[in-house]
Formats: sequence, C-alpha cells, structure tokens
Amino acid sequence: MKWKTEILNLKAYQPGKSIDEVKKKYGLEKITKLASNENPFGCSPVVEQMLMEYKPVRAIYPDGYAASLRQTVADHLDVSEKQLIFGNGSDEVIQIISRGLLKPGVNTVMPSPSFPQYRHNAIIEGAEVREIALINGEHDLEGMLNAIDENTSVVWVCSPNNPTGCYINQSSLHRFLSQIPADVLVVLDEAYYEYVVSEDYYDALSLVKEFSNLIVLRTFSKVYGLASFRVGYGVGNENIIQALEPLREPFNTNVLGQAAAAAALQDQEFVENCKRHNRKGLEQFYSFCDEAGLNYFPSQGNFVLIDFNRDGDEVFHGLLAEGYIVRSGKALGFPTSVRVTVGSEEQNIGVIEAMKKLLASN
Ligand SMILES: *Cc1c(COP(=O)(O)O)cnc(C)c1O
Repeated sequence: MKWKTEILNLKAYQPGKSIDEVKKKYGLEKITKLASNENPFGCSPVVEQMLMEYKPVRAIYPDGYAASLRQTVADHLDVSEKQLIFGNGSDEVIQIISRGLLKPGVNTVMPSPSFPQYRHNAIIEGAEVREIALINGEHDLEGMLNAIDENTSVVWVCSPNNPTGCYINQSSLHRFLSQIPADVLVVLDEAYYEYVVSEDYYDALSLVKEFSNLIVLRTFSKVYGLASFRVGYGVGNENIIQALEPLREPFNTNVLGQAAAAAALQDQEFVENCKRHNRKGLEQFYSFCDEAGLNYFPSQGNFVLIDFNRDGDEVFHGLLAEGYIVRSGKALGFPTSVRVTVGSEEQNIGVIEAMKKLLASN
C-alpha cells in the first residue's frame, strides 16, 4: 500500500484497562475505574428520565446540523448558533481543526505533556510538531510564543491541562493571546472547565468575543457524565466555524447523543453538585499526599497527578491488584507518577488505602 509515510510509526490509542478485563485477570469482584476522568456520579437524572421516554426513529439519519442541541447550547452560552461546531466528542473537533489547517510545511505549537490528540492529529497531517515543555506542570507561554513563526498555523492550549490539572490565569492568557498573529488559530481546550474553582480563571467566551482567532473546545464527556454518547463542541468566531463546518462529516453526532447532551445542560444543579464533591475529593488526595510526603500538582480538573517517586507502571500494577484502575504516568510523560480520577468519597478512600498499602509494602 502507498501509505502516507507520516502514519507508519503511529500506534493505535491505548485505552485505560476495562473493568471486565481487570476482573478476569485478577479474579476480583469489585473494580473501580479511576483512569479516564469520567464522572463517578454518572449523569443527571434528567438525562436518565429523557432516555427512558425518548424513542427516536431508528432508520432515519440524525439531524447532522444538530439544530435542537445547537439552539440549546447557543442559549446556554449566549452565543450565535453559527459560532458552534459539534463533534463526535471534542476529539473529533480536534481532528477537524487539524485536517483544515495542518499539512506538510506548516508547524503547530503545543504544550508537552498535554492531551495526546493534538500531536497525534498533527502527525497524521504531516505538520511539524513543536512541543514546548511544561514548567512545573504549567504552560510555558513565553516558550510557546517564541516557537511561533510565519509557518505556524495552530497553537494548542489546554486549561486545565491534562494530565497536570494546572490552569492558565486570566492575565497570562490574555497577554498570550494578544501576542499571537491574527492568522494563527489558537485552540483552547477546556474539557474540564466546569470543575475550575480558581478565582483568577478567565472567561473563555469573552476571550472569543475579543480574539477572532480563538476557538474554545468543550465536552459532554467529563462533568456531564456522557462520555459514551460522544458529544463535544467548539465555540469561536463565526468565520472560523463556517470554514470548519464543511470538514465535518454530515452525520457526525448521533440522535441519542444530541438528545442526551441537550437534556444534560438543563440540569446545572447536577453540575454544581459534582463540582463540589470533586473539590472535597481532591482534598482527600491532597491530605494523603501531604501525610505521605508525595508531590502532586494542585488540580483544577477532576483528576490529580501524584508523584510516587518510583516507576509509574509499578504503582499502576500495584493498585490494579487491589481493584483500582488508574493511569500510569509512564505514557503521559511523567514516568514516576500516576494520574487518578477523583471518584466518589468512598472510592477515594478505597484507592488511598490501596496507595498506603503499596507504600508500606516496600
Ligand atoms: C477527555 C478530553 C477530551 C476529549 O473529550 P471527548 O469530548 O470525549 O472527545 C479533550 N481534551 C481533553 C484535555 C480531555 O481530557
């Protein structure tokens, strides 16, 4: 086959281990998955109720424009419907952006370590990837600015950043955006936006009004608890969105996903509750780390990256044997850490017990 040379060394996405896989392998009854930053409380009862009653026509294609969801999100954010693009998860919006702007001869600037899909898609498109190392878990915005030249077409920013949980504050982000050439697209991935509590966090939608080269990505997979339905979206200047829309597959979001996402938005109390529980959960992990003398990055997301000062895979396997699936930092660019999703209070107690046991054992 005459494959694009760019794809020859790519590996398929390695998902976190599935619950069934671990049950079988370790002969365990109860498995807790804290590996993919999913919502431990599921989704809103409003969504559950809607799904019980909703009987969409099977044989007819969904509304590719997602008109009803579009209207709901536009109202919720107070933006125009034309400022939105929906994807089969925000993963797909990342793919669409990459397809539209990246190619051999151009470069793209991103933090590292960060969400791997920016790099992955850039490689497929044959663009030069300029990865700028984080400093103390945070974006090196100066370094990123310095890496931009006349061949840069996309700059990726992830705040709160996966896997560190660090965020960018209002003044730093504003200064950064002000210095980026108007013909360079900035993608601000806010997958964990709803969990943020920092007071000096920016308002991404005001930034979209001010900077016509900014697109913000959000998702229903995290706090809304709808990861299986695959709905995410981008919000930006109308001109950017209208340029991207033709690249979207005609029926990229499905009928159940559209309905579930629209229903989920109606229950902001659920979101607030999850956010509150998440804060308490993070405090559980922080106290454990402080007591055990382990370093971590204070997180604005629903996960925490903990440095165990030993091989991350080893910690990962140790916790797996106790029935807890976390993410080894090895594959995330932090070889002696693990990333743990904040679970329910009980789940957090459980995984922390398992961590203590592991620390005590050697
Ligand atoms: C989970 C995640 C996404 C992907 O979300 P989907 O909408 O499920 O595709 C995007 N960006 C970051 C940083 C994430 O952690």
